[in-house]
Amino acid sequence: MKSRIGKQVKTYVANILIAVNPYYDIPKLYGPDAIKSYQGKSLGTLPPHVYAIADKAYRDMKVLKMSQSIIVSGESGAGKTENTKFVLRYLTTTYGSGQDIDERIVEANPLLEAFGNAKTVRNNNSSRFGKFVEIHFNQKNAVVGGFVSHYLLEKSRICMQSNDERNYHIFYRLCAGASEDIKKNLHLDSPDSFRYLNRGCTRYFASKDSDKQILQNRKSPEHVKVGALKDPLLDDHGDFNRMCVAMKKIGLDDTEKLDLFRVVAGVLHLGNIDFEETGSSSGGCVLKNQSGQTLEYCADLLGLDQDDLRVSLTTRVMLTTAGGAKGTVIKVPLKVEQANNARDALAKAVYSRLFDHVVKRVNQCFPFDTSSNFIGVLDIAGFEYFEHNSFEQFCINYCNEKLQQFFNERILKEEQELYQKEGLGVNEVHYVDNQDCIDLVEAKLVGILDILDEENRLPQPSDQHFTLAVHGKHKDHFRLTVPRKSKLTIHRNLRDNEGFIVRHFAGAVCYETTRFVEKNNDALHMSLESLVCESKDKFVRELFENSNSTKDTKHKSGKLSFISVGNKFKTQLNLLLEKLRSTGSSFIRCVKPNLKMVSHQFEGALILSQLQCSGMVSVLDLMQGGFPSRAPFHELYNMYKQYMPEKLTRLNPRLFCKALFKALGLNDNDFKFGLTRVFFRPGKFAEFDQIMKSD
Ligand code: ATP
Ligand code: MG
Repeated sequence: MKSRIGKQVKTYVANILIAVNPYYDIPKLYGPDAIKSYQGKSLGTLPPHVYAIADKAYRDMKVLKMSQSIIVSGESGAGKTENTKFVLRYLTTTYGSGQDIDERIVEANPLLEAFGNAKTVRNNNSSRFGKFVEIHFNQKNAVVGGFVSHYLLEKSRICMQSNDERNYHIFYRLCAGASEDIKKNLHLDSPDSFRYLNRGCTRYFASKDSDKQILQNRKSPEHVKVGALKDPLLDDHGDFNRMCVAMKKIGLDDTEKLDLFRVVAGVLHLGNIDFEETGSSSGGCVLKNQSGQTLEYCADLLGLDQDDLRVSLTTRVMLTTAGGAKGTVIKVPLKVEQANNARDALAKAVYSRLFDHVVKRVNQCFPFDTSSNFIGVLDIAGFEYFEHNSFEQFCINYCNEKLQQFFNERILKEEQELYQKEGLGVNEVHYVDNQDCIDLVEAKLVGILDILDEENRLPQPSDQHFTLAVHGKHKDHFRLTVPRKSKLTIHRNLRDNEGFIVRHFAGAVCYETTRFVEKNNDALHMSLESLVCESKDKFVRELFENSNSTKDTKHKSGKLSFISVGNKFKTQLNLLLEKLRSTGSSFIRCVKPNLKMVSHQFEGALILSQLQCSGMVSVLDLMQGGFPSRAPFHELYNMYKQYMPEKLTRLNPRLFCKALFKALGLNDNDFKFGLTRVFFRPGKFAEFDQIMKSD
């Protein structure tokens, strides 16, 4: 079913905002006038809007003297990041201190997006990391600073992209937009000449008329010289300039900017290093002839010694205990495939450290000494279910189980408990508690993450062995099945030791476990690690500072140390949830109207499944008979006594409210009296408030 979307792209279910991505700019809806109009207005007074949610969070923070969080969720392309930016802009514009800080909080985004976003088949600007942005306020409730926490950058993308997808924006932007001088110094060419960019992507030769049109409309001469990899939908040159402006605004100087660019270019050249077999009996490999200059460029840009880099990529240092000669260092030659893996591991490590640095640097742009409270906005990928699901989907869906539990706790459980405590007599709504699914993933020793860590610590870990261990431990678990038993035809070809199926709250997902072991390890081989730690380039050296502190010290075979990605994420996630639980919360559920990413097309079935995945159906059940707004009697008394005749104000607050409602002739169905407060049907409190203020 398809229907047209009008200009109403948002609605509430109780206090939860549902925002449909309109896929076209509606300047009036988000402009300065709109920002002004929502200031200080109760939810429901004006049409549903992300500004109304932001303002509610602010007012709750002020009145309750309690930090707030806004959880923005939805699938890829649903509009999470855009809405997050609207919230940040609203809060800094409306409640900022008029200083640089306000602008910096907004301008940090183009930089974060350049390094952490990429074009995917689902979204031309897809965030490949999660973030929680806190805006901090002082005692007077004005903005004093900000802080960004980031989660799980998708590292596999750095070396390989799926069909029709791209690597991180920064790579293309640098190639397209850097000055000739910079390009020369960094030995940059068109993206087509780099292995990390030229696989996976569609090649555009601007052959289609529509593409030619798009390209012609661009003013920059850069777009006339179109490389095969130039994406006609993206303006890498313009985006590069916009990113540089943002960098300047947040206070990055030219040296810092060049540091970032140098490492980005270093990663690109690293990717072009190729290996071939030596043909000798030792079975090792050497660099292919044409890799000579590439090696030089890469070593130069990353401050490494060429020979050291070559040796570290083609051999591995091992500590041997053989023959009683404990701790002897030997160099084991690597096969071509192993050397490719070592190169890619180094590229991923360097780039992800660079991303960590970008976030750290961004955080230095809006420091604060004291903070009374904060409003945090969470922008993290929603539930994912693709044809092939790997470790990344496993982690993100685990995260969504935790967030769903929090949502249930806040919206459903706490709501029902309150109704019961206040004696409202509202029917109970049943919802599925997903603690068992969370335990399946994160429980100590028996949870999938710990089983995986155990595997990573074995001398010869393997994905199949890990998979069988998961099946073995959870044979009878309601939430887990083997692929063979699945009714899902697309998984029929998967053998049992190649995956497992988890029944998530939003549906069953089959995870293919190939590369789980590798993806769960953040550590570099010893020789690569010491190579970068001893770089002549101070910036590169600093990227790897402290890298030894988190290492698993139990395992010292010398072969490969281990830093668990899964458990780091688990710790981060638990800290995040602890934080969320200590704040008041609001929810924005973003909805993607169609898969084509076009405006004015509304695919009903697609939207319904998104609403089901985000738990909205249970909420609708609850709210149908529920009372989302409430106010304690004494608050209403204090708020409105000034408007009432003195005789009424002598009543106790409860009776005062009863008399007040009777006098106003409110409909009995619109509210209920509890033991300590009045509960209102959706939108009815705002109506009541309006009557009082206009009288
Ligand atoms: P991902 O999980 O892939 O990061 P997302 O949910 O963050 O996806 P966005 O990047 O916010 O999705 O939105 C995708 C695109 O949709 C935007 O680049 C923009 O073109 C369009 N879009 C989203 N929200 C709006 C809006 N309110 N008005 C106009 N266009 C929008
Ligand atoms: Mg996003």
